[in-house]
Amino acid sequence: MATLPPTSESFAVAVVGAGAAGLALALALTRGGVATALVGRHAPVADGRTVALLDGSVRFLDALGVWPALAPHASPLAELHIVDDTGSLFRPPPARFVATEIGLEAFGWNVESARLVEGLRAQARGTENLTLVESDAEGFSAGEAEATLTLTEGGTLSARLVVGADGARSRLREAAGIVPRTWSYPQAAITTILAHARPHRDVSTEFHTRQGPFTLVPLPGGHRSSLVWVMGEGPARRMADLDDAALARAVEHQAQAMLGAMRIDGPRGLVPMRGLSLPSPVGARLALVGEAAHVFPPIGAQGLNLGLRDVAALRDAVMRAVEDGRDPGSRAALAGFARGRRLDARLRTTAVDALNRSLLASLLPVDALRGLGLLAMTTIGPLRRLVMREGVLPRLGAPSLMR
Ligand SMILES: Cc1cc2nc3c(=O)[nH]c(=O)nc-3n(C[C@H](O)[C@H](O)[C@H](O)COP(=O)(O)OP(=O)(O)OC[C@H]3O[C@@H](n4cnc5c(N)ncnc54)[C@H](O)[C@@H]3O)c2cc1C
Repeated sequence: MATLPPTSESFAVAVVGAGAAGLALALALTRGGVATALVGRHAPVADGRTVALLDGSVRFLDALGVWPALAPHASPLAELHIVDDTGSLFRPPPARFVATEIGLEAFGWNVESARLVEGLRAQARGTENLTLVESDAEGFSAGEAEATLTLTEGGTLSARLVVGADGARSRLREAAGIVPRTWSYPQAAITTILAHARPHRDVSTEFHTRQGPFTLVPLPGGHRSSLVWVMGEGPARRMADLDDAALARAVEHQAQAMLGAMRIDGPRGLVPMRGLSLPSPVGARLALVGEAAHVFPPIGAQGLNLGLRDVAALRDAVMRAVEDGRDPGSRAALAGFARGRRLDARLRTTAVDALNRSLLASLLPVDALRGLGLLAMTTIGPLRRLVMREGVLPRLGAPSLMR
């Protein structure tokens, strides 16, 4: 690890944002021999949020050397169960997806976000050739051969390519004049961690209710799970006002007492449901990854998995350019990355949006379509396996470190 550059230093790539996406990219590039700086403060992460990392993301973290230390703190998702709790006339029987059916031990692993970020930070601090600049980026300007960042702590830094991994409110995106499309849903998610009397047996269960999905995801030890409970904004605010004992009772009731008596066992959150998409994740000498490039509701464990696919794909594009002696910040070097990421983000955003809206619409034809889709997946083996494989790791151009 190197320290803050004095006034001006030049790199092949400068990554802005020391969250999960930025840290993973900085590590991947440095391990590939690319001169990289990571710009961002290492603030504590303590929101009680967990992320279900799908198989491809875990392979990627393993390739970065981060997974061995994280694995003991992650719970496998061996089965996914979907229960239609909408009260619809076209209510299919519960659907059950089993990872071993597609040759995997687990669809993914659930880990607390704070642990993931800490694990990545520890690896970054121990990586000799990675320059960590513990300051926020204030300004960005793209020149002919390089882009320049100004830092809040003073000084500037130049790179052939600057990457914005600075989250949903990305300052770099704004500075580059990239205008996102944003939207919101009339819902919010209650999030927390629960301790429960009965074991989860590595099963994640999603109840589809009229107000949105209610999802329990296993955590290590067998008797803890994370909760993402999407509901209308008013009910969510009222639920957030309950004390821990009353909230635990409400969760137990919605879970049909499947995991027995429950207790709140972590910080609680109230997350607004909103979305953001971009016409392109690339500008002049700039690429955007993670939530700087796309935001959608916490449904179906997609957000960071998509973010890590951005990161792994950008790593491949930069490595190819550097190996061929080309400029990694040129439009030509980033064209394939931009195309692939636009498509992947659009597919995921559309799928999450369609599922969420289909639950909110109490129209019979919509209910029938959703019910038939779930029923088809339950009864038609090849379709179910195709959906499971695509959900875990889309075949379409999987980045090299995810294969
Ligand atoms: C309730 C909930 C549940 C979720 N569950 C899942 C799940 O199961 N699976 C999944 O894949 N995803 C899930 N997600 C999504 C996932 O949490 C996000 O996609 C992920 O945290 C985004 O990471 P990021 O690194 O892109 O952004 P962030 O975590 O927002 O990191 C951005 C970083 O940039 C820094 N920064 C900002 N501005 C500057 C600046 N000017 N200069 C320098 N640094 C800056 C910030 O301080 C921060 O460190 C969930 C989200 C929610 C809300």
